Amino acid sequence: MSRFLRAPFDAMEPYVPGEQPRDKAYIKLNTNESPFSPSPGVLRAVAQEAASLKLYSDPECTSLRQTAAELFGISPDNIFCGNGSDEVLNFAFMAFCGKDKGMAFPSISYGFYPVFANLYALEYDAIPLKDDFTVDPADYFHLDKNIVIANPNAPTGLSLSVSQVRSILDTNRDNLVILDEAYVDFGGESCLPLIREYDNLLVVQTFSKSRSLAGARLGFGLAQKEIIADLNKIKYSTNPYNINRETLAAGEAALREQSYYDANCKKIMENRDFTAKALEALGFEVLPSKANFLFARTPKMGGEALYLALKDKGILVRHFSRKEIADFLRITIGSMEQMQALVSAVQEILK
Ligand code: PMP
Repeated sequence: MSRFLRAPFDAMEPYVPGEQPRDKAYIKLNTNESPFSPSPGVLRAVAQEAASLKLYSDPECTSLRQTAAELFGISPDNIFCGNGSDEVLNFAFMAFCGKDKGMAFPSISYGFYPVFANLYALEYDAIPLKDDFTVDPADYFHLDKNIVIANPNAPTGLSLSVSQVRSILDTNRDNLVILDEAYVDFGGESCLPLIREYDNLLVVQTFSKSRSLAGARLGFGLAQKEIIADLNKIKYSTNPYNINRETLAAGEAALREQSYYDANCKKIMENRDFTAKALEALGFEVLPSKANFLFARTPKMGGEALYLALKDKGILVRHFSRKEIADFLRITIGSMEQMQALVSAVQEILK
């Protein structure tokens, strides 16, 4: 730390991303990336765009928003493009929360929410999950704060139904409800159609998971046009060219090849079922996930010990040291080969 850092940031704990190791080739099941390549049209579009990199990108993301609007049946005015959904979340915390308006979110959820809250010195309520690790909608009724909920939640993979989300929206008409749908394409129910009815809903989606573009950094904020205009105000006050040319081209091409990604999601869901059954047969408790990962624990071994033993065998999964979930591992669903390798490694370790 330099002597120039401002005092409020002294004690701030930054977000810790999952490991991206360089020491050897791992079977990488720790950051919920897709095992599948981007679609052929994306590879072509990115290669073509390289020659234009001398020019700035379109700050309005016109063509990408137009294509997405057609696919989603909404207007381009309902779409904000972020440099990853992390940027959309960051801008939303910056735009809509402050001294007078804090945030509420589940105490076990995406680790970035408390980081953003601390960054903007917001008061926040971290609301405990129920004993079965589900979010209880009633805990969010009539709050005096904005709300952010990952649906499906991370790292549990458990999801709320659209009617449960509605109950939260109905009882918080003067609070913004941010629904982080990073993992919605793996069997969850999107609340995107609700943006027509609710002016207090911001749906956040990403291209990092189901659309195989984690490295491109692209996410959407989807809401009524006034909320999108506010997010644009923040963007044009920080980084107008927030999406680079190659990513704009990749995102648009990906939207045009939706059937490729739908087929990949189907494979991930099949591989998830296979892995859940295999782990249950080995004595694991596996939460019923609607995401591209499983959250599982075994009475036979602690979470950290199992994480280390798997790492030793070249398989990387995610372990969180918080005591409520320290027994669990979060295991990204990869290809069938990768999942078979994981199950065999677990079997050997537990022998
Ligand atoms: N929300 C949740 C719940 C996540 O797990 C992640 C990925 N770590 C993100 C948002 C951010 O994803 P990205 O910035 O890659 O779009």
